[in-house]
Amino acid sequence: MNNDEYDIETLAVRAGTVRSQFNEHSEAIFLTSSFMFGSAAEAAARFKGEQPGPIYARFANPTVNMMEARLAALEGAERCVAFSSGMASILATVMGLMKAGEHVVASRSIFGSTVQLFSNILGRFGVETTYVSPTDPAEWRAAVKPNTKLFFVESPSNPLTEVSDIRALADIAHEVGAWLAVDNCFCSPALQKPLELGADIVIHSATKYLDGQGRVLGGAVLGSKELMEGVFTFLRTAGPTLSAFNAWVILKGMETLSLRMEAHSRNALALAQWLEAQPQVARVWYPGLPSHPQHELAMRQQKTGGGIVSFELKGGKDAAWTLIDATKLLSITANLGDTKSTITHPASTTHSRMTIEQRAAAGISDGLVRIAAGLESVADIQADLARGLA
Ligand SMILES: *Cc1c(COP(=O)(O)O)cnc(C)c1O
Repeated sequence: MNNDEYDIETLAVRAGTVRSQFNEHSEAIFLTSSFMFGSAAEAAARFKGEQPGPIYARFANPTVNMMEARLAALEGAERCVAFSSGMASILATVMGLMKAGEHVVASRSIFGSTVQLFSNILGRFGVETTYVSPTDPAEWRAAVKPNTKLFFVESPSNPLTEVSDIRALADIAHEVGAWLAVDNCFCSPALQKPLELGADIVIHSATKYLDGQGRVLGGAVLGSKELMEGVFTFLRTAGPTLSAFNAWVILKGMETLSLRMEAHSRNALALAQWLEAQPQVARVWYPGLPSHPQHELAMRQQKTGGGIVSFELKGGKDAAWTLIDATKLLSITANLGDTKSTITHPASTTHSRMTIEQRAAAGISDGLVRIAAGLESVADIQADLARGLA
């Protein structure tokens, strides 16, 4: 199908489908590690790349390829390479495109494991990272060195939903000969398409909204055919491969992505508005609220404010833990992008590996609570929170 002719809702259910000789209507799971060839000559041609078709499931499987083609259609990318997790996708981006002695400029407000990967692991292999403000493009420009190769950002950020100007960062990156990679996990292509805003690379933890039901781990890197060649070579050689079963779960999960993202966003906005009116709440962070510092940018760049709401309780850590412990419906877990609403205390969980000073600089106070709005009735979620607030 010609992807340019169709809207995202259509692509989500139809793009990438390849049918076998049985003409099955729903996409099949191909659980096989290797593939046969019709002759010695065909095998040789396949290995040389002269004949298309799968060889070995470390780097090609029809179900995984369907998931890649569908996600590429949703993001408007030339090519998608799937991985076993979001973290494997970020690792593959650096290993596939960079070398020792090169430099990354990254947002200070990125996923905790991403910080550990850049600072503690890639740092040991000679890739250095400088962290800057997600909301101040001038800091990115000032951090550039002659060896800067990659800009890395997540927007909106976790847990404070800071919104970065993707187009402005892309312009600076291109001026200095670097690539901009955007971790688009929080919005998904249903709400934000970084490549259209000038980014070169999109990264996903498919574990979150793409699956959408908290079932499997997965990840992906997307971009031009040229850039993805290096990323694919890393996959082929090193093997952080997405399983066919997980690819199938994500492939089918993506079919309802737009519907789910609209519903997550609707619930999150209603919760944010309600929380802002509660006397126990000092402050609410949600890009869809006019009180959000980058509200206008967010509304230009994203279709909605997304599904994540954070708020600070006046009573600090005690009030936050009391609220969390009083919930009966919400799941106490750091995960997000699930049909089930989740509640987290970032300072003592997802951001506990940071020092107190780092947390203070990042604005993660002890009274901060993050909610990833699920698909339950918003009245039920509110009632669950109201008990703890009281
Ligand atoms: C969860 C997450 C990741 C890591 O993904 P995994 O699939 O857990 O490896 C990366 N970035 C963001 C923004 C995430 O939320």
